[in-house]
Amino acid sequence: MAITQNSVVTFHYTLSGEQGETLESTRERDPMLYLHGAGNIIPGLEKAMDGRAAGDTFSVTVPPEEAYGPRVPGKVQRVAAKHFPQPRKLRPGQRVQLNTRRGPMQAVVLKVGRFNIDIDANHPLAGRTLTFDVEIVDVRDATAEEIAHRHAHGPGGAHH
Ligand code: ZN
Repeated sequence: MAITQNSVVTFHYTLSGEQGETLESTRERDPMLYLHGAGNIIPGLEKAMDGRAAGDTFSVTVPPEEAYGPRVPGKVQRVAAKHFPQPRKLRPGQRVQLNTRRGPMQAVVLKVGRFNIDIDANHPLAGRTLTFDVEIVDVRDATAEEIAHRHAHGPGGAHH
């Protein structure tokens, strides 16, 4: 059965960066599960999945525009320390969540100053060209409930 709109796909992947370094992999854990055609995985990978079947293995290299988007310099920001609950405890490299007018925002701490904290709110993989080595484990039709929710249910999918 080939992957098409509203297939639920189970797959393993290893994600590598520009130098071939491994960034993440499902090989040590459960494979990932997603509803095809609902924009639940990055566009470049979803496009490459189209028409594949269980047992297929392939490799696809995806530019930033088809992955997590370009790095936006404006997302590197200086924020007053008073906006953080415990600014003295922050360390560079730490991930934090900020509550903004447009909702919660994930960011990485770059620099901790006395009055200000420099943060980077870009996705950690923004601006990166990514290579996915994929193995399709299973393909099935989505249930009516999954189509209504626009995501897959079960191990590796949404839990609720
Ligand atoms: Zn659901």
